[in-house]
Amino acid sequence: MAQPCDRLSKHFTFGQLTTTSSGLSNQPVSSQVLASQHVRGEAVDFPVSGHSVYEVAMWISETIDYDQLILENFLPGIPISGWVHCSFARNNRGQDLTKFKGSKTYYPGIILKPE
Ligand SMILES: [Zn+2]
Repeated sequence: MAQPCDRLSKHFTFGQLTTTSSGLSNQPVSSQVLASQHVRGEAVDFPVSGHSVYEVAMWISETIDYDQLILENFLPGIPISGWVHCSFARNNRGQDLTKFKGSKTYYPGIILKPE
């Protein structure tokens, strides 16, 4: 099993990609799980302590070449709610979506409230 300091990609360690403040375990249960997109270092979910998650998602959208960017579990009016999902692939799609907490709908674009 990977150790916290093991590198999964050029920019992220195993420990950085499995850290959670939810109180729930975020550790892969087997080495087979390590074959999924997140743990291969192709995707990451991260909250942004002290910053608006929406603004960080917008910055990524305007600055970085990505496959998929999701402002996920965002609560309108609560800038630090939710997290950012960002993935990378050989042929990045540049797809951006927003999913609000309590909804199963993925809206196109990085948006502040459901339309
Ligand atoms: Zn994700």
